[in-house]
Amino acid sequence: MHDEATLALVGRLHAAVDHMTAQTRAALQAPLACQRGCSGCCQDGLTVFEVEAERIRREAPIWRSGQRPGPEGACAFLDAEGACRIYAVRPYVCRTQGLPLRWFEEDGEEVVEGRDICPLNAPAVDLIALAEGACWTIGPVEERLASLQQAWGGGLRRVALRALFEAE
Ligand code: SF4
Ligand code: SF4
Repeated sequence: MHDEATLALVGRLHAAVDHMTAQTRAALQAPLACQRGCSGCCQDGLTVFEVEAERIRREAPIWRSGQRPGPEGACAFLDAEGACRIYAVRPYVCRTQGLPLRWFEEDGEEVVEGRDICPLNAPAVDLIALAEGACWTIGPVEERLASLQQAWGGGLRRVALRALFEAE
């Protein structure tokens, strides 16, 4: 199956997410602590859909220089200075880090909205009072990624980021 057009759509989705997160950030108008070297959110054990993993396998330049995984306890792609070594092709989940997140969940017979933000960014925002447009809504992009993964093949198979080094 593994249609190249599907893989190209993953790149386009990542670009669209970057555009949308920039809009969210502009609406937020708050000084977030996120910056190069701040890496508390780059946890070990993150998994991504196979189709996103394939983009990293093909396009991350680090493979050409034979780089090795970072030590366990943090994401294998983090470098010694706390920067991402695959920043341009990092997966979706990494592109929304730091933003206020909102989602919907069932609570009995009700559907309620949940919100959260990195504790380092919490002092800069009034999470509850934020307008919807100043938050990243979890759901739509996840659904789009899942449909791309289905089109790619292999069901909804996920791959640990660290496992990408084992295949090299
Ligand atoms: S891929 Fe990059 S941004 Fe994502 S968790 Fe790993 S180091 Fe952090
Ligand atoms: S989300 Fe939190 S830990 Fe991650 S870069 Fe932003 S401030 Fe740092």
